[in-house]
Amino acid sequence: MWVGIISLFPEIFGPFLKFGVIGRGRHSGLIKIDFWNPRDFSDDPKGAVDDKPYGGGPGMVMKAQPIFSAIEAAKEERGSDLHVVYLSPQGSPLNQNVLKGFLEKRNILLVCGRYEGIDERLIEHAVDEQISIGDYVLSGGETAAMVVIDGVSRFVPGLLGGETSAHDDSFSDGLLEYPQYTRPVTWAGHSVPDILLSGDHQKIADWRKTESIDRTSKRRPDLLKSRTLTEKERKVLNKNIEMSNE
Ligand code: SAM
Repeated sequence: MWVGIISLFPEIFGPFLKFGVIGRGRHSGLIKIDFWNPRDFSDDPKGAVDDKPYGGGPGMVMKAQPIFSAIEAAKEERGSDLHVVYLSPQGSPLNQNVLKGFLEKRNILLVCGRYEGIDERLIEHAVDEQISIGDYVLSGGETAAMVVIDGVSRFVPGLLGGETSAHDDSFSDGLLEYPQYTRPVTWAGHSVPDILLSGDHQKIADWRKTESIDRTSKRRPDLLKSRTLTEKERKVLNKNIEMSNE
């Protein structure tokens, strides 16, 4: 997986790229990250990368030219079929499927905005997709880019400890993940559910599925609307509905 980042503040990414899954991925060559800074591409005599908005209003807007030249430089190095993604609060919501799509593309270029955002003409003519990490406004796209890199890294084959961990994660099969426990068996007077100590793999798998459906129906009922439930899953769900009506 290759990720290019266009940012005015590449230093922000420093420690984030060194540790955990991403640090390991970079070390082993499974993930490669490169940066382009629009400041290095400005054709303005003073090197400006932003200017006042036409029509007035507060703040500054990032100029199209330095970002466009940075995108061109990235394409020259990595190929013209790079998938260009602008992190924007106005984009489509990020989710596991979007991340899997990025993995399939193999080469993505993340454009991080600052100030009041980017000149719309750049977005219209040089961006393939706009992605939002939530309905709130951040000061810059860098933190959103980190979210994308972290999330997509979990899907890179061979990067996670257990080969199947990402498949068990919440959202992967449209449900929240079951609860997790580790040693000791009793902590502060609270015990681990007996079933997890039984060694019966089928019963454990059934219990986990029930817990998954249970917490999804309570915390994120919207997820269940877009998922076809098996008969067994529907029974758990109906039982929950009955209990909440009692
Ligand atoms: N004025 C813009 C608006 O209201 O749509 C917001 C600009 S924001 C202060 C500056 C930059 O932060 C954006 O260009 C974008 O790159 C990034 N950003 C802010 N919120 C984001 C979000 N929810 N998801 C992804 N990127 C975001």
